[in-house]
Amino acid sequence: MPIADPDIRAIAMRRRLYYKICMRCGTRNPWRATRCRKCRRSDSLRPKKRELGPKK
Ligand SMILES: [Zn+2]
Repeated sequence: MPIADPDIRAIAMRRRLYYKICMRCGTRNPWRATRCRKCRRSDSLRPKKRELGPKK
């Protein structure tokens, strides 16, 4: 079921997409993270791809 309210939709989108993935171990990290919280040494974070939008 699509989310009707655009405000809630925007929040949902932000929650789903604003994090980073460690390219070494695949852990999700906070958006502001500069390095992985799990393997620590790794600074190879990529942002989650944002093309898809929220789940429908
Ligand atoms: Zn990692």
